[in-house]
Amino acid sequence: MIHLVSISGGKDSTATLILALEQHGHDNVRAVFADTGNEHEATYEYALGYLPQELGIEVAVVRADFTREFEVKRANLARIAAGEPESAVYGGRQFDYPWTPEAAARALELLHPTGVPFLDLCLLRGGFPSRKRQYCTEYLKTIPLTEHAMGFIDQGHAVWSWQGVRIQESDARRTRLQGTGACVRSFEVVGGGLFIYRPILRWLVQDVFKAHELAGVKPNPLYLQDMERVGCMPCVNCSKLELRAIAKRFPHHIERVAEMERLVSMVCRPGSPVSFFHRGTQGHSGQVSTIHGVVEWSMTSRGGRQFDLLAASEEPAACSSSFGLCE
Ligand code: SF4
Repeated sequence: MIHLVSISGGKDSTATLILALEQHGHDNVRAVFADTGNEHEATYEYALGYLPQELGIEVAVVRADFTREFEVKRANLARIAAGEPESAVYGGRQFDYPWTPEAAARALELLHPTGVPFLDLCLLRGGFPSRKRQYCTEYLKTIPLTEHAMGFIDQGHAVWSWQGVRIQESDARRTRLQGTGACVRSFEVVGGGLFIYRPILRWLVQDVFKAHELAGVKPNPLYLQDMERVGCMPCVNCSKLELRAIAKRFPHHIERVAEMERLVSMVCRPGSPVSFFHRGTQGHSGQVSTIHGVVEWSMTSRGGRQFDLLAASEEPAACSSSFGLCE
């Protein structure tokens, strides 16, 4: 039996890993990190440097590989660039933003795997995921992590996949978990030797940090720097306040996203809008939606009409955890 814990560098998955190690010991527990290529450097250091050292474990790293998808897309673009109608290439489908042969030829020159899974996925899709179309989690995390688990099953092991999910974590999750009951179980039999275990489902955030403290493990330092979550930097779901904090503390990540927007816009369908945050999804409907436009909006007071000068000029405090870690 393998107890497999997928860690993100966040507080909940770290507490889950601590619990798994305490209950089943180092010989029976494996940790795995799904690298989106879109994480903060502090998260990489925490998940792949600090935690292995502090807990005496190895952390496997999995990355989505889109080599085959690039080959298919490039082959399709080559046909369109050569003058074949797009409807013939895509089985009669019609598109809001059709390719032209010229645009397809230009995209063909530029469309190659970068080795950064998040960016590769966006290049292939010609856009970014959003709250409504959150395909990033499936392609960048669920599929590679499931394949990793299947590797153990193929070797003859049963696998308990430990998930650091808490009902209290967010309103949306609370509604989803309690509303349908679909995921509320702390234990599920998937079949084929795979089981899902959610041991901290009803823990409060204080319990999570207490588990760190009892194990002598520090939480990810990003929690002390205004970050409510430490997944992608930024996540497409991040709040206005988080984005404001990211822009102030980590402007290089804003520039990295701006560069991704530029690259994706060069290989997308002609005229199709490309922006990291989709219009309306962060409450900034009507604003210019490029990352720089949305960051500017994040500096405004509620409603977005009045620029908040105080917010723009304030230096971020050295330590301002929203979890009260510094009390
Ligand atoms: S952290 Fe956010 S952006 Fe990253 S994979 Fe998850 S949902 Fe997508």
